[in-house]
Amino acid sequence: MADRDRPIIALYPGSFDPITLGHLDIIERASKVFDRTLVAVLQNPKKEPLFTVEERIHLIEQSTAHLPQVEAITFSGLTVECAHQRGATVLIRGLRVMSDFEFELQMAHTNKTLSEEIETVFLATRNEYSFLSSSLVKEIARFGGPVDRLVPEPVIAEIQQRCFPNLPPA
Ligand code: ADP
Repeated sequence: MADRDRPIIALYPGSFDPITLGHLDIIERASKVFDRTLVAVLQNPKKEPLFTVEERIHLIEQSTAHLPQVEAITFSGLTVECAHQRGATVLIRGLRVMSDFEFELQMAHTNKTLSEEIETVFLATRNEYSFLSSSLVKEIARFGGPVDRLVPEPVIAEIQQRCFPNLPPA
């Protein structure tokens, strides 16, 4: 049985380059279930990000300002190590489409092998966000398309500024 004297801390790892409304929906729903939710930005030297880790954390903080039990952090290395260090016993992952499932199941099995105490919990995306990814948002923004229905409010101006630095602010 869960030890309810101890708060249940969930870790939601990802690139969040940048946070989208799909991510935010998962964070809001996780924060109704768990006592604390840590949104963990992975430092991944293999990827060329649009936003630095610090910028991504700042955008997550601004986008989750209405959720006091949510905190944005960064980590490198194994996700389960980060979870151990932060006292998290749950890993949150979002599932959009069937093709996410194969990779996510493999990751969940890997993490279970690495740490018996940590459970992976999958939250199914809302239908309206099932197509949405950070890569898609960046592609639209680079072509000057509107992203206001895809990302939280604080991200809109930042991404437009990053893709078109010479445009005057809206
Ligand atoms: P990664 O680099 O691990 O793919 P992302 O930042 O893209 O990191 O995503 C982090 C987590 O958020 C993953 O579990 C991913 O499936 C989930 N996620 C991404 N986009 C959405 C969305 N539109 N709806 C629900 N979950 C999502």
